[in-house]
Amino acid sequence: VWEQILTKMKETLAESAFKWFKSVKPLSLTDDGFVLSVQNDLVKDWITSHYLTIVEDAVSAVLGSKHKVSFQVVPEAQPEVEPAKKETAGEEETAASHSSSRKKEDPNQGSLFQDQPPAPVDNGDMHIVAPGDRSSLNPKYTFETFVTGSSNRFAHAAAMAVAESPGKVYNPFFMYGGVGLGKTHLMHAIGNRVLQNHPEMRVLYVSSEQFTNEIIRAIQEGKAELFRQKYRTIDVLMVDDIQFLSGKQSTQEEFFNTFNALHVADKQIILSSDRPPREVQKLEDRLRSRFEGGLITDIQAPDLETRIAILKNKALLDHVDVPNDVLMFIANRIDSNIRELEGALTRVVAYASLIKKPVTTDVVAEALKDVFPNNHKKEVTLEVIQEIVATYFKIRIEDLHSKKRTRSIAFPRQIAMYLCRELTDTSLPQIGNFFGGRDHTTVLHAYDKIAKEREENAKLHKIIKDLIESIQKM
Ligand code: ADP
Ligand code: MG
Repeated sequence: VWEQILTKMKETLAESAFKWFKSVKPLSLTDDGFVLSVQNDLVKDWITSHYLTIVEDAVSAVLGSKHKVSFQVVPEAQPEVEPAKKETAGEEETAASHSSSRKKEDPNQGSLFQDQPPAPVDNGDMHIVAPGDRSSLNPKYTFETFVTGSSNRFAHAAAMAVAESPGKVYNPFFMYGGVGLGKTHLMHAIGNRVLQNHPEMRVLYVSSEQFTNEIIRAIQEGKAELFRQKYRTIDVLMVDDIQFLSGKQSTQEEFFNTFNALHVADKQIILSSDRPPREVQKLEDRLRSRFEGGLITDIQAPDLETRIAILKNKALLDHVDVPNDVLMFIANRIDSNIRELEGALTRVVAYASLIKKPVTTDVVAEALKDVFPNNHKKEVTLEVIQEIVATYFKIRIEDLHSKKRTRSIAFPRQIAMYLCRELTDTSLPQIGNFFGGRDHTTVLHAYDKIAKEREENAKLHKIIKDLIESIQKM
């Protein structure tokens, strides 16, 4: 049906306008309406403000009756684009305003509370972890399956030490690093190893979100005491992605108490975050200083050698035979996220078996053509960049060319210049020319400024990522 609707719309829409619908997919169709998925707010706003009636007309033409059309943002596999979820509705706290994020269906977010057998009646929803209960741990995430290299060697060694002597060496043990670099894997590895050595120990892995939700629920249902009991009988507590505790006051307070109770009893606490404690925004100082009281290690992006080793290891575990030049080809192009690295291999292998061809670099290039951003480089035009940036900031394209210097225009203009340099091979003078005949030093200045701000400002970083994503889809 969607195909028919698209065809219908093609009749009325210009080629350039139609491009906006490339990544739009149907989500649901009910009597009430037709819901379409879009990749981000930008696309949603643009389509809603420009093409809503055209879509609705096409829908009613194809379906034979009127349907309300709405859009829902469904970010693609990029972990970075999903904003932190709000806390349970009704709670006075809200998710931090900075742009922390995590993937929606992250398989790593251990599902302890879903996988558990039903709780005893008088226990409500509060589950005490049975000793040796592994349900919160992913059995695949072990030290054996973790490939080490210079980027993670220290974290790995420290994690092993913690696993061998929980509560005795580094307490708390705090790991930080970018998305998809192995923090969750190492946490589970510790948990699995501890249970292997000490089946009687109570090991609990929770995401910060689960932890927060549980606290809020416990408070709302007057079961705070039960919550405390549960958490204070644990031997090894792992809380993943604690940057999401940012700004959540009552959760932090309860966590502080839990932390102290466990720490005093020499119980092991393991934490992870996407940044070091001192950089987590809106975190109580006392909690920050607790986090800093043990060992803090970082995990860096893996170097080429490690990336190849990781791919080799994965191919081995998956029982697939992949030639070295193919592994090289992938490892050379995906360098900052191990999940994506592994995902690329999976996709290549699936693709090759689908088209019944051996895995060669040609097949890889074909299978991954949406994944390698460099492949888009040639196609991106300055016009598209200006169009997208102007849309996002709700200004006119002419404003980008104008001499206006108010921040509401100058800032988007600088971002647009930055993106032109970043995403195309156009020279600085050419870019300057394209922005109303500006000097190349102006472009360079804009580029440096935005590059720097992007590093320092997580919110801006996310905006730029969204913009790039949209531009590359055009
Ligand atoms: P993070 O929690 O830091 O975002 P994860 O631990 O979820 O990252 O890792 C993402 C994926 O990459 C997982 O499937 C994990 O098993 C894999 N992975 C990460 N680091 C390694 C490594 N050093 N060796 C093997 N696999 C790894
Ligand atoms: Mg993780």
